Amino acid sequence: MALQVVLTSTRAILTLPDNSLLLTPATITISPHTGRITSIILLPGLVDAHVHLNEPGRTEWEGFETGTRAAAAGGVTTVVDMPLNAIPPTTTVEEFPAVTPDDVASAMRVLQNSPTTLIFETSAVAEILKLAPSAPALHLHIVHLSATECIPLLRKARAEGLKITAETCFHYLELAAESIEDGDTRHKCCPPIRTEKNRDALWAELMRPDSCIRTVVSDHSPCTPELKILPHRLGGQTAAAAAASSTETLADSAIEVEPQEEEKEEKEGEAGRETKVTPGDFMAAWGGISSVGLGLPILHTAARERNLSLSDIVRLCCVETARQVGLAHRKGSLKVGLDADVCVFDDTEEWTLTRGEMRWKNNCSPWEGKVFCGRVKETWVRGHRVWDGQHVVGKPLGECILEKRRV
Ligand SMILES: [Zn+2]
Repeated sequence: MALQVVLTSTRAILTLPDNSLLLTPATITISPHTGRITSIILLPGLVDAHVHLNEPGRTEWEGFETGTRAAAAGGVTTVVDMPLNAIPPTTTVEEFPAVTPDDVASAMRVLQNSPTTLIFETSAVAEILKLAPSAPALHLHIVHLSATECIPLLRKARAEGLKITAETCFHYLELAAESIEDGDTRHKCCPPIRTEKNRDALWAELMRPDSCIRTVVSDHSPCTPELKILPHRLGGQTAAAAAASSTETLADSAIEVEPQEEEKEEKEGEAGRETKVTPGDFMAAWGGISSVGLGLPILHTAARERNLSLSDIVRLCCVETARQVGLAHRKGSLKVGLDADVCVFDDTEEWTLTRGEMRWKNNCSPWEGKVFCGRVKETWVRGHRVWDGQHVVGKPLGECILEKRRV
């Protein structure tokens, strides 16, 4: 049911949380469903700068339509697709073999004065920082930072004037290894979910005014449930059926440079794998977590204990993500002249994510059953309402932004 703004006045007397009265201009929104005054906040549509939609080639995993519907339902109005698992990918192994430090150095040389961002895996941070002074004007960016061991290196490089930033993901800020049940491969991602101690240290860095972590993204990386090799209790197949259907190769959700030792063995043992796969096998399961569209409720729920404000969330997930991908002139802020991408957020509603609420193509996610505080009531894209709080409305109107980066 549509949300309705019913009363606006330059003079309204509001009761504040401490029960004092305030005369102020105000707009009161009322839910026609409950007849109550609702708590509504307007935010810029979120810009999720790291999403895998897997189209073309693996549309049984996701696709633009389902992925962006899920995004819209969570107030996300722009996604940046990383076509890593699409077929064909942006490039092939033959065209783009594993890079060496020399390759990185020459890339930096060529790009040093370009309005672009060079992105790297965390595993390469020390190497990158050695090369970075050769291209001091180039923006370097570390994707899905999870291990806090890199943070001192990044802080030092930033203190020395290098333009290097990092992103982390919603799951690294909210999930922790200690709480994952054995065999719950819905949590398998790459890099992996780490300890509570690591998670707290990520938060500590995130909350610093000069934090090297400038953005938070989903790294939405779905697959079909079979590839998660879920245990039977989580809806997976029996061991025999899983073994029979397992033909996909082991891969991860991102651009890992070096597979772990065990993964190498798995790859080498691929031929005999059909008989070895056991439901709940973390090593064999696809690495990737579905979460596009959940970022705002995840962070807003965590914010209660972490002293994070809604303005911080907008900075991390709208303003800075738009800037990171060179779209700040169109996206990420509520500002005259920008695209009218708006998220209408009720910061008080509590709700539980059920499978029925998941709008991705495959409703498999470690966020199932989580209780969130705060829910997106409407989403508007370029002036058109695309989400009414319960349904995606109207025809798909998303456009592909392929403009050449200017900043
Ligand atoms: Zn990724």
